[in-house]
Amino acid sequence: MIKFNYPVKAEWNYIQDIFETDGIVSGDGKYTKLCSRWFEDQLLVNKLLLTTSGTAALEMAAVLCNLQPQDEVIMPSYTFCSTANAFVMRGARIKFIDVRPDTMNMDETLIENAITDRTKVIVPVHYAGVACEMDDILHIAKKYNLLVVEDAAQGVMGFYKGKALGTIGDYGCYSFHETKNYTMGEGGAICVNHSEDVERAEICREKGTNRSKYFRGEIDKYGWIDLGSSYLPSDINAAYLYPQLLQAEEINKSRLDSWHRYYERLEPLRSREAIELATIPKHCEHNAHMFWIKTKDLEERTKLISYLKENEINAYFHYVPLHSSPAGLKFGEFVGEDRYTTKDSERLLRLPLYYDMKESDIDFVVDKITEFYEKQ
Ligand SMILES: *Cc1c(COP(=O)(O)O)cnc(C)c1O
Repeated sequence: MIKFNYPVKAEWNYIQDIFETDGIVSGDGKYTKLCSRWFEDQLLVNKLLLTTSGTAALEMAAVLCNLQPQDEVIMPSYTFCSTANAFVMRGARIKFIDVRPDTMNMDETLIENAITDRTKVIVPVHYAGVACEMDDILHIAKKYNLLVVEDAAQGVMGFYKGKALGTIGDYGCYSFHETKNYTMGEGGAICVNHSEDVERAEICREKGTNRSKYFRGEIDKYGWIDLGSSYLPSDINAAYLYPQLLQAEEINKSRLDSWHRYYERLEPLRSREAIELATIPKHCEHNAHMFWIKTKDLEERTKLISYLKENEINAYFHYVPLHSSPAGLKFGEFVGEDRYTTKDSERLLRLPLYYDMKESDIDFVVDKITEFYEKQ
């Protein structure tokens, strides 16, 4: 059977090491700090704080944006519910806009049309680790005095014009969920891209207290200062992540090799227009988080999924557009024309892709897809 995803395996000696050194298994121990430093040194993140999930990182970003009830946040409808939930929990309304069919990222040309007097934040989601058009987005944000929170949950080790995803807006949110390229089981991180926001971010992550400052010996007692929650992960999770970061280049290369093999081997089906594939803009260096194809329509996709299942291949569709989901109808609305969000979300299919995937397995998946289309 070809599974859709395998998490990168743990290296137990790192976890063991915690118990043999400082013994701190709660937050902000040795490995939490090593992980933060890795991102700051390698990806030039101004300040990275590990969190308990990508969702938690988005929630922190929403707190740090100081939203007032009825403020508006612009994001694609084609994303995970946490992108929206984080802001809805702060009382904001969501303005969903359409995606571009080539990358399934928010269509940057539609943002301006969704801006009102109440707009406060733009949330680009770097789908499949392919960057949104950040120059255009930052330009609009500056013009209208808006904040930018990057949902870079899928974007770790992806770059836009040489800059790491997550480091370009005011805040960037990573996920280290089991299904992501680098994993803590459950975990995430927030990139705090302006130094003046770091102290508040630390307070928010520590249940609204200035405990981080206290631990550094900068104050002699700590207390409740501001909004916050329990967003600090255990050092055990960080010790699972850290060795993956040390091999990040290798993991990234392996995933990209698999991605390119799929792309080359599926090219014949694309050139005879049986399927569509992603187009990666030239200035985006992606991280092979995902390999997707688009079928003709929903019916063909359903048939292809069952055909692959019969051949013991697990391939999955992805998001149901948020604007049409029960909570989306309550907390937001779609602005402009839905040209691609609904139609293309029904056609998109994700193929198995994970670190160290065997070439023969990729070939098997491609052969079965090709076989399916020969029978059509
Ligand atoms: C995975 C993901 C999240 C949520 O991350 P968790 O770590 O599962 O909370 C948010 N947004 C996007 C786009 C994601 O892919």
